Amino acid sequence: MQRGKLLYTGKAKSIYATDDPSLVLIHYRDDTSVGDGARIEQLENKGKINNQFNAFIMQLLQENGIETHFVELLSAEESIVKHLDMSPVECVVRNLAAGSMCRRLGVEEGLKLEPATFEFFLKNDELHDPMINDSLIETFGWASKQEVAEMKEQTFKVNDVLKKLFADAGLILADFKLEFGRSEGKMVLGDEFSPDGCRIWDAKTLKKLDKDRYRQQLGGVTEGYIEVAERLGMTLDLS
Ligand code: ADP
Ligand code: UDP
Repeated sequence: MQRGKLLYTGKAKSIYATDDPSLVLIHYRDDTSVGDGARIEQLENKGKINNQFNAFIMQLLQENGIETHFVELLSAEESIVKHLDMSPVECVVRNLAAGSMCRRLGVEEGLKLEPATFEFFLKNDELHDPMINDSLIETFGWASKQEVAEMKEQTFKVNDVLKKLFADAGLILADFKLEFGRSEGKMVLGDEFSPDGCRIWDAKTLKKLDKDRYRQQLGGVTEGYIEVAERLGMTLDLS
């Protein structure tokens, strides 16, 4: 399988066609950004780390009955996935309050959220990813009622599987964001699950080990990602 035409360049990944129209190649770059692309920098090895991190998580989710777009690792920084018709909706589940929830509701970071909360955001950098709801999604046609239900159900299933995985490694999965796309009439989990799109804290020290290290200029960003990968039992190829 080889890189064909470049189909899309995002802030952190590039999507290429392959010789099979039902599959695309994702190249995870080292680029990292905050403020919806306002600040962009390169972090050495981030592409390789996130590609392999995502492959590990997506395979685990598949073993737990959650369908994903992941097909195979092609190289340290490239994967082959099913070509999905992506919905512009982001699904966020939170087990503990952080980030925009604290800013919006004035609650303390780390507040336990029981049951876990669910939010939809619209993927739109210019509008800074506004929060949306089921009604807006249906009316504006970003997904059907049935698709909304499927995304919500699968996102909570992902939370059940991953909360336990992280807890068993002495880590807290505070929150995460997922994206879905259509394939053969179903909503399938796409994009990535990596420390770029979730919040992971050490259960004892509450040390941040995710993209907040970059957002809050704490340093040791990829070191945090690697620590999580190793504690979850991954062997990363960073050669
Ligand atoms: P962004 O678009 O937010 O800057 P990325 O750099 O992560 O983000 O770009 C990856 C893009 O590829 C995203 O727009 C995402 O929705 C899209 N994508 C992810 N998985 C698939 C897939 N399986 N098929 C088609 N597009 C995908
Ligand atoms: N998130 C993401 N991409 C986005 C927005 C949010 O991956 O465009 C992730 C983010 O990393 C966090 C979760 O979704 O794990 C919730 O993000 P939040 O709404 O708190 O926004 P933030 O303060 O991170 O911008």
